[in-house]
Amino acid sequence: MRRTYMDANATTPLLPEVIEAMRPYWMEHFGNASSIHLHGQQAHRAVNQARETMAQFFNCHAAEVVFNSGGTEGDNTAIFGLLHPGDHFITTSIEHSAVLQAANRLARGGVETTFVAPNASGLIDPYDIRRAIRPEARLISVMLANNETGVLQPVAEIGKIAAETGVFFHIDAVQGAGKVEFDVRRFGCHLCSISAHKMHGPKGVGAMFVRRGTPIEPLLVGGSHERRRRAGTENVPGIVGLAKAAELAMHSLQDGTIDRLAALRDRLEAGVLQIPGTGVNGAHSIDCHPERAQPSAPEGQRENSPGQAQRSPGNGADIGVAPRRGAGNPLVYPISTNPIPRVANTTNIWFDQLEGEALVIALDLKGVAVSGGSACHSGATEPSHVLMAMGLDKTRARASLRFSLLKTATEADVDHVLQVITGAVENLRELSPIAAGTLG
Ligand code: PLP
Repeated sequence: MRRTYMDANATTPLLPEVIEAMRPYWMEHFGNASSIHLHGQQAHRAVNQARETMAQFFNCHAAEVVFNSGGTEGDNTAIFGLLHPGDHFITTSIEHSAVLQAANRLARGGVETTFVAPNASGLIDPYDIRRAIRPEARLISVMLANNETGVLQPVAEIGKIAAETGVFFHIDAVQGAGKVEFDVRRFGCHLCSISAHKMHGPKGVGAMFVRRGTPIEPLLVGGSHERRRRAGTENVPGIVGLAKAAELAMHSLQDGTIDRLAALRDRLEAGVLQIPGTGVNGAHSIDCHPERAQPSAPEGQRENSPGQAQRSPGNGADIGVAPRRGAGNPLVYPISTNPIPRVANTTNIWFDQLEGEALVIALDLKGVAVSGGSACHSGATEPSHVLMAMGLDKTRARASLRFSLLKTATEADVDHVLQVITGAVENLRELSPIAAGTLG
């Protein structure tokens, strides 16, 4: 049976070039990068080279790159490494659990968190971030791209707010890295986490940008690896694989791969939307709070403490909605029905009158791998917190599927999905008690 994998936001396979780059570091050049002898020097050189590549990827200095085990560790490091009892933390209700659970743990230790909600399109309004900032605010953490909807968040605008108010800014860029133009200077962040396995690199390895002077406590202590910012013998093959994947991702942004992927995603989306009773979650900007049109200074706004923050050099409007500025009016967002920015490979679609999980299984039986709008927590299936935060009711959240295309996706993959999905939806709707109740 033909198999089509459309769950790239869960993980991706390694590209052949990545495997080739890693190969010598399993057996031939197996040394410990901290050893003085030749084996150690070979490993050390490979890590240094990878660090240079990652510095190019982030657009930062090599000394600002810290290798780690991936996105979860990066997110945890930013949060546990900067926040202390009494601090205020601002994040969003659509973050990955690596951020949300870290915030929950800190709540027990006296760190209060504000979870900013998205609008109905899954977009965070920078104005809401600004309004949430209290005098004791120390860290803002906002993702670059949402893992479920693909919606790109206006991180450069939020970076400006962080600079203006003197609050540290972390970006969970796990889902955006390799899919959009990437530049931590333009984003104006102090910290940024990425993970290799989301961009055709190996699992269990990632990197973090740590802006020079950011007073972050290491999560892991021990040896003096990574300039004492992350203890533990370097995963040399993993680091080499990450750097190769990042190098290939930088090419993909230039050589038309991402545009091709967006066209495939759009064709898939248009095809699926031919099925009656379907719609896209997070495709159009439709929300505007009336108070956003009012000029008002955010409460608790401060000037440049705790001293590390600088003004972000970028114009800040490249990702997300472009703000309209007026006298005394820091950020005003017009109502818009325009498509909102998403990463090229993702679409999230609801299907009336069926259970998403049943459709995931039905598609799997036809050779198509996608994921649903629910997650299994402690044995119970809960609707996605992201879709719920966007205002979907439980039934619709549960009836949603995420399609996320690999960089190597083809027209034939899209054809395969379109070929099987209509029948699968029809079959399930015929059997569905939801449909029976609604139609009866
Ligand atoms: N952040 C986001 C947005 C993610 O999608 C994921 C993984 O799905 C993570 C963090 C965790 O990354 P990792 O699997 O490398 O720990």
